Amino acid sequence: MIEKVVIANRGEIALRIQRACRALGIRTVALHSEADREAKYVKLADESVCIGPARATDSYLNIPAVISAAEVTDAQAIHPGYGFLSENADFAERVEQSGFIFIGPKAETIRLMGDKISAIKAMKKAGVPCVPGSDGPVGDNEKEVLRLAAHIGYPVLIKAAAGGGGKGMRVVHTEAALLNAVALTKAEAKAAFGNDTVYMEKYLDNPRHIEFQVLADTHGHAIHLGERDCSMQRRHQKVVEESPAPGIPEKLRHKMGERCADACRKIHYRGAGTFEFLYQDGEFYFIEMNTRVQVEHPVTEMVTGVDIVRQQLLIAAGEKLAYRQKDITWRGHAIECRINAEDPRNFIPSPGRITGWHAPGGPGIRVDSHVYNNYFVPPYYDSMIAKLIAFGDTREMALARMRIALSEMVVDGIKTNIPLHQDIMNDTYFIRGGVNIHYLQKKLGL
Ligand code: ADP
Repeated sequence: MIEKVVIANRGEIALRIQRACRALGIRTVALHSEADREAKYVKLADESVCIGPARATDSYLNIPAVISAAEVTDAQAIHPGYGFLSENADFAERVEQSGFIFIGPKAETIRLMGDKISAIKAMKKAGVPCVPGSDGPVGDNEKEVLRLAAHIGYPVLIKAAAGGGGKGMRVVHTEAALLNAVALTKAEAKAAFGNDTVYMEKYLDNPRHIEFQVLADTHGHAIHLGERDCSMQRRHQKVVEESPAPGIPEKLRHKMGERCADACRKIHYRGAGTFEFLYQDGEFYFIEMNTRVQVEHPVTEMVTGVDIVRQQLLIAAGEKLAYRQKDITWRGHAIECRINAEDPRNFIPSPGRITGWHAPGGPGIRVDSHVYNNYFVPPYYDSMIAKLIAFGDTREMALARMRIALSEMVVDGIKTNIPLHQDIMNDTYFIRGGVNIHYLQKKLGL
């Protein structure tokens, strides 16, 4: 068993991991930057180590600092959370070479999934449906490129193989614009990711974003925990997530979930992971896999009763999954609102001191947050300050509870997107369920 874990992250997920460790009797080491020194979760940890100045590149992304913190505290394992170093294959490799357990998949798996072309190849081989596309990099032969796009059919999407965070993508509607768009995306990808490889996909005009949560142990067992609908997005950033996805027939959920679990077995996946799909006209198309715990994991926890972070720790400790697929049952509905410190109209971040904080409560309400009265939201990191999750026996009930919770929640001293969430929870189309990935942008008039 693991006795001590280094938490190489900050904010709500650092606290979430700490809680899961404590429930298992595992001691925790909170790593923090100078800007997060006073955070309560840092004080709650058994030990803490300052790993550098506020800037993430000098602290949370500083691989030698993270590894030496694990060495000096004599920990056995490192949990990377999400963001920062969580999908950095070189980091995972260094962690294991230094004799620690990386709480996540093997470095080679992260590498395979980090390159979108190799990820799509692996998924196709494993029988997971993908978006019709180039089946590899787009080459330099202009005639070939034009023929390829004509074969796929316009509009097409040019995507960077190394892309992430919604960057390195370009939609092309006409043949006349194609070659220029490919050249531009290549140049951008080279500048942003140091790799100019691009590929081509059919651009889907009306998809929903639906993803499947999986867990896989080191003994060849893999299960799925069903799906989440994360279609409510702004600039490819998720704003609201829910589980189950409205209107997905149970049979289809099981079929797709089983395909994902099977793909895990085939690629010898280890830990928690998410298969992201676009869903249009009753068909699923794989777009990428996230090899880490996700922000929106609580909605799955609420409807399945499985503690995903606890499972990550147990899998890392080498235990067999205690669940078989038939043990997983789904009950009710859960919705998550990402509460950000930002102006609800123009989305400009609003860091600063929280002068008044009141978290909502009551049946079915869960608040995952590291903030409190008088907490200072630093300007250096992601603007998310809390995740508000509402559960109900039905979607209507979860929605009603979410509306009440949003009305109770008080965050004084900074601006938040609570008004935007209130608007979404009262939106006719959201209430109906099943809006597509473009809906929020259109609603906002963008
Ligand atoms: P990233 O790694 O940058 O998040 P993804 O491949 O996950 O890139 O795509 C991000 C978002 O871009 C998706 O959630 C979806 O909104 C949009 N997208 C990606 N591929 C397609 C496609 N083939 N057709 C339409 N939209 C797409």
